[in-house]
Amino acid sequence: MTAVRLGRPAKNGAVKCLACAHECVIAEGRSGLCGVRRNVQGELQSLVYGLPAAVSLDPIEKKPLYHFLPGTAALSLGTFGCNFTCMFCQNFELSQARAVDDQLAQLSYVSPAAVAQLALRQGASSVACTYNEPAVWAEYALDIAVEARKAGLRTVFVSNGFYSRELLDAALPLIDAYNIDLKSFSDEFYRHVAGGRLQPVLDTIREIHEAGAWEEITSLIIPGLNDSEDELRAMAHFVASVDPEMPWHVSRFFPMYRMQDRPVTPAASVERAVQIGHEEGLLYVYSGNLADHDQSSSTICPVCGATIIERHGYDVAARTGLVCPRCSTSIKGVER
Ligand code: SF4
Repeated sequence: MTAVRLGRPAKNGAVKCLACAHECVIAEGRSGLCGVRRNVQGELQSLVYGLPAAVSLDPIEKKPLYHFLPGTAALSLGTFGCNFTCMFCQNFELSQARAVDDQLAQLSYVSPAAVAQLALRQGASSVACTYNEPAVWAEYALDIAVEARKAGLRTVFVSNGFYSRELLDAALPLIDAYNIDLKSFSDEFYRHVAGGRLQPVLDTIREIHEAGAWEEITSLIIPGLNDSEDELRAMAHFVASVDPEMPWHVSRFFPMYRMQDRPVTPAASVERAVQIGHEEGLLYVYSGNLADHDQSSSTICPVCGATIIERHGYDVAARTGLVCPRCSTSIKGVER
């Protein structure tokens, strides 16, 4: 266990965690809602600092980030725990693990510098904190970001965006790109299905954009839960209000974890969401998880309609950078 920075003492030996918008007040000997930040004798400690539970070299497109270093690889890692309890979580073995002390005892310590060196050895262009919510292991994630930057690598958070002020202030100077989930435009959905709240996520999305970091948004479209015309339009309208050039990924749901009672999202619903995104003014709307049915995974020039980046799934089949090969329009993003 490692003492952490994003917390402060509270009354009667409790500690207040400041790593996410829950701001848990944690009594002596107890853990916060995420299960991996514990009050040990009045000091807030991380159970997962230095203990990645999953490490893999992924295409950056898998995060998904389509306008950030396209065609490169990201060394991706995650730990245990999450500040949300999404019933449809696609990574529930990691995120929803609780009482993880025995599992953690099986893991080996990997220092932040060692993570950066591993990324370099594997030919990655970036290090991505993903698979589970980086907020709950923020100090390790940010220490990795410092070492990655020193090694000439870029840094990525894949996140639910349920941030505290303190986490935003700590992350914005160190993280180059974010993919933030916008799970719904309903606070009720956030409270009852995900175990969070909507407004802090909206605030995070705006703040990241205003700070000048690269940002893309992902929404998982779940039949009967967040796929109404009104809700899709509200999500798209919000993203467009932040920046119409911010990519929006709308992806297909598959029954998972505690949500086995819903069907797979019909491909037509995802394509309808893509259409709504465009109608609300977004220039880059991408479908995800449709496999070979993906009609909308390539980057198309908004001016002349030529293909700028051709993708098949996560593969970048041909690329010309972020400049249209036909009309020379530059699109927003981050090049190698
Ligand atoms: S990261 Fe969030 S959920 Fe976890 S202890 Fe801190 S405030 Fe609570």
